[in-house]
Order: sequence, then C-alpha cells, then structure tokens
Amino acid sequence: MADRPVFSIVVPAYNEELVVGEAYGRLKGTMDAMGEPYEIVFVNDGSRDLTCPIIESICAGDPNVRLIDLSRNFGHQIAITAGMDKARGDAVVVIDCDLQDPPGVIPLMAGKWREGYDVVYGKRIKRKGEGFLKRLTSKAFYRLMRRMTEVDIPVDVGDFRLIDRKVCEAMGTVRERSRYIRGLISWVGFRQTFVEFERDARFAGETKYPFRKMVKLALNGITSFSYKPLKIATYFGTLLSFAGFAYLLVVLYQRLFTDSVIQGWASILIVNLLFNGITLILLGIIGEYIGRIHDEVKGRPLYVIMKETNMGDG
Ligand code: UDP
Ligand code: MG
Repeated sequence: MADRPVFSIVVPAYNEELVVGEAYGRLKGTMDAMGEPYEIVFVNDGSRDLTCPIIESICAGDPNVRLIDLSRNFGHQIAITAGMDKARGDAVVVIDCDLQDPPGVIPLMAGKWREGYDVVYGKRIKRKGEGFLKRLTSKAFYRLMRRMTEVDIPVDVGDFRLIDRKVCEAMGTVRERSRYIRGLISWVGFRQTFVEFERDARFAGETKYPFRKMVKLALNGITSFSYKPLKIATYFGTLLSFAGFAYLLVVLYQRLFTDSVIQGWASILIVNLLFNGITLILLGIIGEYIGRIHDEVKGRPLYVIMKETNMGDG
C-alpha cells in the first residue's frame, strides 16, 4: 500500500457530468501547488449520467485520484460518510463537486489545521447564485436548529470542512442512519474553528438538492439532535387539558343553572376539529421519531459499494 497521503479530498458526486472534469482540474491545481502528497476520493452516489465513466478515465491517468462507486443513490450525507470511511489522509477535506465551495479555501483550512485545530469548517459569508427562497429557508433553518439542540452546531455552515484523522476515526464510530454530518462533527468535539468564504454559484448543471431533499435533511438534523418536538406534545397536552377543564366547568354551569344547553353545536364542532387536528400533528411528530428508531433497529449498513477504482488494498 502506498504511503498515507497528507490530505484526502472527499468529493461526493451525483449526476455531475458537467462539472467533475472542471472540479478535478481545479482541485488538482490547488493540491499540486500545496506540494504535499494527497488523494482525491470521488464518491459516485449512483449517478445515472456519465459521471462514473468520466471519473474512471481520470483515475486511469492519475494515481492520486480514487473512486468509490456506490450501488445506487444513497444521498449526499451517506456519500460523504463512504468517502470519509475510505479516506487515508492525515487531514480529510469534504467539498462539493459543483465548485460552490472554492478549492482555494483549502490551503487556508490547512493552515488552521497546522496551527493545531482538528476541525476547520467553512463559514459562508455570502452565497452567490442561490435563490432568495433557498437562502431564506436555510438561514431560518440554521437558527431554528440552534435554538432546538443542545449540541453547539454553528450557523451558516455546510459540509465543506477539513477534519483531522482522529476526528475522522471518531466519525467512523458514529453509525446512525439519519445522518446530519455537520451536527455529528460538532457532537464529536475536539478543537474546532472556522474560515470564512464566499459561496460561489454552481459551475454548471442544476442543484441535486430539490426542496424535498432539503426538508429531509432539515428533519434529520432536528430529530437526531433534539427532543424538543416531542416535548411540544407534552406542553400542548397540558395546556389543552387545562383549557378543556375550564370549559367543562362552563358547560356544567350552563347545564345546571341556565336553560341554554341546546345551542352547543358550533362549539362542539370547533373543539372537536381543533383537538383532532392537534392530536394528528402530534402523532405525526411522534411518528417521525418512531420511524427513525425503526430505521436504526434494522441495523443495515449505511451504504453498499459496487466498485472501487485506485483504492489499492486500503
Ligand atoms: N450529492 C450527492 N448525492 C445526492 C445529492 C447531492 O452526492 O443525492 C452531491 C452533489 O453532487 C454535490 C453535493 O452533493 O457535489 C451538493 O449538492 P448540490 O450542489 O446539488 O446541493 P446545493 O449546493 O444546491 O445545496
Ligand atoms: Mg451545490
């Protein structure tokens, strides 16, 4: 097996045929200039376009490039996990394939790492080329997340970051399925810092994070780091019980001391609809957690690898 590289660059790619070539070129440029041994680990997350053959041909011409080809689309967070599991470097950098995270930031991260930090995350001070709605929802989400969880997860931070070998090993022991990697990395601890950067527009192609996947990521983030939604049920339940009891007294009073009992139709209907709606919402919240328990209990592997290229015997 070749000597361990100093840097591993993990690049998840899902239907990125328009950008992998350029991503490789720029990463190679940056890493060559840094002058230390490195590997670029592409993780093909079940792409249905030419992403995989393109990376394979890059692999054929450059022994520093490696490919993990997953057997289907497992999702961004799992793809990153596969890459981190297989990365061999002393420092592991996770970066998006679409060049929204500028490779030029890697030397800055490496500098912080040399200073002794174990996690250096990229903090986005500006996001170019992303719609108003995406920026608004993600801003709101990061702040909501912050209020709801006990783990200190920094705001406006994506998965673009450098982690030390020991953090990578620690992450290797965390095998939960609903993965919210940036949360988990905060959770494992160590000395953490950040560098600021401006997030560029996508180099080409379109986002692989439609609204549906964003909601899923957000739900995973909240449910795997917070019990607060479950507590909402308790709060609501208590509040409603008190209100219900108060109303019961009113009804009793009306029944016993007045003769206006027949008119109750509207109020009964309203109370019914309201309470049923709230009950269903709360059941749904509980269901979210139970579904995740079910997922974990099955204990399936996080991903399945179809093929590895240039991975040596590591
Ligand atoms: N990605 C992936 N699997 C998926 C979705 C996305 O590996 O199921 C990769 C994608 O190729 C890219 C990164 O995750 O390298 C971030 O995706 P994207 O740029 O589409 O997300 P956005 O920047 O729009 O949030
Ligand atoms: Mg992107």
